[in-house]
Amino acid sequence: MDTFDALDLISPIKKAIREEGYTTPSPVQAATIPAGLAGRDVLGCAQTGTGKTAAFALPILDLLGRQAPKTVSKRPLALVLAPTRELAIQISESFAAYGRHLPLKEVVIYGGVGQGRQAKAIADGVHIVIATPGRLIDLMQQELIYLNRLQCFVVDEADRMMDMGFLPDLKRIMKALPVRKQSLFFSATMPKKIVQLAEQLLHRPVSVDITPEKTNVELIDQRVIFAAFRQKKPLLAKLLTAGDVGQAIVFTRTRRGANAVAEYLRKAKIDAQPIHGNLSQNARQRVLDAFRADKVQVLVATDLASRGIDVDNISHVFNFELPAEAEAYVHRIGRTGRAGARGIAISLCSEDERPYLADIEKLIGFEILPDGREPEPLPKAAPSAGKTPGGKESQSENRPSKNRRRRRKGSRGRKPGADDKQTESSSDDAKRRPTAAERKSARNRRRRKRKDDE
Ligand code: AMP
Repeated sequence: MDTFDALDLISPIKKAIREEGYTTPSPVQAATIPAGLAGRDVLGCAQTGTGKTAAFALPILDLLGRQAPKTVSKRPLALVLAPTRELAIQISESFAAYGRHLPLKEVVIYGGVGQGRQAKAIADGVHIVIATPGRLIDLMQQELIYLNRLQCFVVDEADRMMDMGFLPDLKRIMKALPVRKQSLFFSATMPKKIVQLAEQLLHRPVSVDITPEKTNVELIDQRVIFAAFRQKKPLLAKLLTAGDVGQAIVFTRTRRGANAVAEYLRKAKIDAQPIHGNLSQNARQRVLDAFRADKVQVLVATDLASRGIDVDNISHVFNFELPAEAEAYVHRIGRTGRAGARGIAISLCSEDERPYLADIEKLIGFEILPDGREPEPLPKAAPSAGKTPGGKESQSENRPSKNRRRRRKGSRGRKPGADDKQTESSSDDAKRRPTAAERKSARNRRRRKRKDDE
């Protein structure tokens, strides 16, 4: 499937997608959307960052958009379940964006805040509810919502729900669903319990498996440098000009981050271009063509954008930020070491990204060794994070404001970490590796926080 135009979506949705700047469906979208439009159940094995929100949101919006049904108090037509409130909010923002030209109403409901407004919206009548399981069950018990009119049901990040202890809640919700409905079930991994749950829910599902491509990670020389966030840009510039780097890809977690890093590198006289989902397909193609033709030395990319990058002779991959999903790391470093060549992957890891590093090492089965080079020490009383190479303050150097962070889409449902708060750790702190006990307690803390969020 080449473009969204080839999909049988109603025009208000196509218009919204164009406005979002999407032209080509991602693999999970190309596989899920036609099945969803045909009314089939879907079992999707895909992680966050693959574009799976649009993969389930677009068929639902299309179905409801064609019917343009009246709302009925307390009885929505579509329900999306997500494990955390952050993810639920981001999914609802996606529904609002893709459905902006449709007369459909949605509400997002989650715990940790008063239920009054959420209950009122449901009583007033909505088409689509995006919910975390705990709050939904609360409202169901109080008879503030009924699920008997549902036409579409989505479970997102089922494995994470299970990790967070929501399996009983999920089963209770599934019992309250009408028999006739379309269900779309997504999970990044498919352990036995999840497969069993999916089997209970789904009727002759279409299977969509977007597992990251396998890479021979042993062919790639992988290293890590511990650095505070504020040390990363100068360090990256130093590494890129060290002499052994040919063409390179730098990965950031967000589109905004990709722009900021590329801008910094250009100011440091390094030939760098950002590539991410905010650029039009044509602009992305132009950047990619220039990179292929060796007219650009460094691409600064987000995970989704990297999927189309199939270029030989990339000598280095730099992880400016570690990905929240360990599989994405394998996918990223697979951009180098192609066609039997050896490649080098260097990850810049700040204190709050150490849990991600631990997850990655668990997945690849070995420890990533330190590179040996180190960042410049932080100035004692650093006035601000935002110095450009020329010494000028730059807004884009700073982490986004709290509100912007909340609105941003690229960080959905992530563990708390580098994406959400500025790392201020000293370089000494950054060098010490956590003990197994510290890693375990950090994991427990994250788990508890996720429960609190819910
Ligand atoms: P998701 O996996 O749904 O969290 O999506 C990851 C990011 O990719 C989001 O920021 C989306 O806005 C973006 N995105 C989703 N589909 C596409 C597409 N077909 N083209 C470009 N960007 C997309």
